[in-house]
Amino acid sequence: MDSVINLYEADLHCHTTASDGLLTPTELVHLAVELGLKGVAITDHDTIAGWKEAEVAGIDYQMRILRGIELSTEWQGKEVHMLGYFVDGASSYLDDRLRGLRKAREQRMLEILACLEALEIYISVGEVRKFVHGESIGRPHIAQALMERGYVRSISEGFDRYIGLGAPAYVPRYKLTPEEGINIIREADGVAVLAHPGVHRLEAGIPEWVEMGLQGIEVLHSGHKPEDEKRYRAIARQYNLLSTGGSDFHGEGIKPGVVLGGWGVPLDVLNQIRDLAQLNQHC
Ligand SMILES: [Zn+2]
Ligand SMILES: [Zn+2]
Repeated sequence: MDSVINLYEADLHCHTTASDGLLTPTELVHLAVELGLKGVAITDHDTIAGWKEAEVAGIDYQMRILRGIELSTEWQGKEVHMLGYFVDGASSYLDDRLRGLRKAREQRMLEILACLEALEIYISVGEVRKFVHGESIGRPHIAQALMERGYVRSISEGFDRYIGLGAPAYVPRYKLTPEEGINIIREADGVAVLAHPGVHRLEAGIPEWVEMGLQGIEVLHSGHKPEDEKRYRAIARQYNLLSTGGSDFHGEGIKPGVVLGGWGVPLDVLNQIRDLAQLNQHC
C-alpha cells in the first residue's frame, strides 16, 4: 500500500482551537514537527489569539511560525476570504476591527440557534460554547453540538442538513467587502493574500483587488483542482503577486482528508512574504 504523501516545507493556512480548528496551537505545532514540516502559518478566523502559544511550542523545534489571520468578505454574492500575514498584533485598529467581527459571529450563532429551534432542534448556547476554546465562534462549533446531541452523525451532515448554505437554519453572516478586508490587513502592515480563489471562481475580481493592495494569491489549496492551480499561478504571475499555498487544516473531524502540509510552499516563500511585510511597514 502506498501511503506516502509528499508534504510541503511550510503550510501557510492552518486553523486552531483559537477559532474553529480541532487542535490547540501546541498540538498543531507538534503535529507539524512529527510530519517534518519546517513552518506553519496560524490563520484563524477573526482572531490572533493562537499566535503566542504556537510560537512558544515552536521554539524547541525551530519551527517557523508565521503570524496570520483569515477574514471573510463578500463580493457579488460570493465568499471571498482574505489571508493576512505578518499583521501587527499590537495594532489597536486591528484589535478593534477583529473585536467587531467576533461580536457579529456571536450574534449569528444566536440567530442560527433560533432557526434550529423553529425546526424543533433545541441546542443551548452553553452546549455550543463547550466546543469553543478560543474567542472566535463558528458554525463548526454548532455542528459539533448537533452531533453530540445525536441530531447528526458528522459535522458535514450538520452543515448539509441544517446550517450550511441552502439548508433551513442557514444564516448569512455580516461580511466585510474585499476592500475592507484588504484595508484592515494593510493598515496593520500585513501582506494581503486572496485565499482559495478557485473554490468560488474569483478571477474576475482580482484586478480591482490588486489596485486595492492585494499582494498574493493562494494557488495551492485543498479545495483547488489542478486546473485551478494552473489558472491562479498564471494570474499571480500576470499581476506580479506572490503565489502561496496552504491546506486550510482544521483537523480530521472537521475537514476529513485535509492533511497538514499536504498543500503548501517551499520555506523560501515565507521569506518572500516577510520581506514584503517589511517593505509595507516603510510605505
Ligand atoms: Zn477560507
Ligand atoms: Zn481557512
